[in-house]
Amino acid sequence: MKKIKEYKHPFVILIVFETVAVTLWLTKNNLFYLFNFSYIGLSVSLGIFLFIRKYKHARRIVQLLVGLYMLVYLGLICHENMQIEGFWYYLFTGVFEAATIHYAVAKIFGPLIFGRGWCGYACWTAMILDFLPYKVPAQSGRKLGWIRYITFAASLLFVSALFLAKVGNLERIMFRAFIAGNLAYYGTGIILAFVFKDNRAFCKYICPITVFLKPMSYFSLIRVKCNKDLCINCGKCKRVCPMNVDVTDNSRNRKNGTECILCMECVKNCPKNAL
Ligand code: SF4
Ligand code: SF4
Ligand code: SF4
Repeated sequence: MKKIKEYKHPFVILIVFETVAVTLWLTKNNLFYLFNFSYIGLSVSLGIFLFIRKYKHARRIVQLLVGLYMLVYLGLICHENMQIEGFWYYLFTGVFEAATIHYAVAKIFGPLIFGRGWCGYACWTAMILDFLPYKVPAQSGRKLGWIRYITFAASLLFVSALFLAKVGNLERIMFRAFIAGNLAYYGTGIILAFVFKDNRAFCKYICPITVFLKPMSYFSLIRVKCNKDLCINCGKCKRVCPMNVDVTDNSRNRKNGTECILCMECVKNCPKNAL
């Protein structure tokens, strides 16, 4: 009985995703939603199952399963632009389809529940950056976060300009923008990782999506918390954190609190199981 209880989380996650999958399939009369959300639900549930089994690559497996699906299948094969430009594009055309639903669920309203789980378990940009050698940053955060507002504004201006100039064949342009945008993200991300000796430098300073993710994840229901009765202030959790979060502070204002990607490195490394 205890064993079954241990595995209730992956089961619950699977049920939630299946409910979304079936609801969207029936309401939108589109089989794609059944396939899409079932696949993501199965991938996430498998990851949680492996995490419970203490498999050390559990997070990376989910990241690759979901990230590659989004990048290769949805992006390159189905020509669905899931970058932020794609979000603006579908928003302006008034189409509430894959990209807008994806942003609403994973990046705007979802973070109220699961914080920046997207960044830890699904993002195809970070999926590559996490292979680089600087898993733990050499230095704590620099004050460069303002750059994200520039990239955010640039993405919005780019798509607005296309609409204002009444440019034709927008679908094709958006697909090219998807390829160019991804190459730019990977290139910049890899260079920054080596310059700052920090795999996640791109996430911390450049990524425009954090303009949505950070404020919403401030209110996240799911957070890593510290049991002060068990904690011995050894500092190990902060030393292994890729995002420089002060995870021993339980307040919502903790240092870099909205940077937490729920990777669970702190939890795995705490010698007292205080997290
Ligand atoms: S911050 Fe941006 S690039 Fe980094 S994981 Fe999140 S969405 Fe991906
Ligand atoms: S690793 Fe655990 S015991 Fe050490 S400071 Fe962090 S929470 Fe406390
Ligand atoms: S190590 Fe802990 S605090 Fe840091 S990002 Fe991962 S889960 Fe969040």
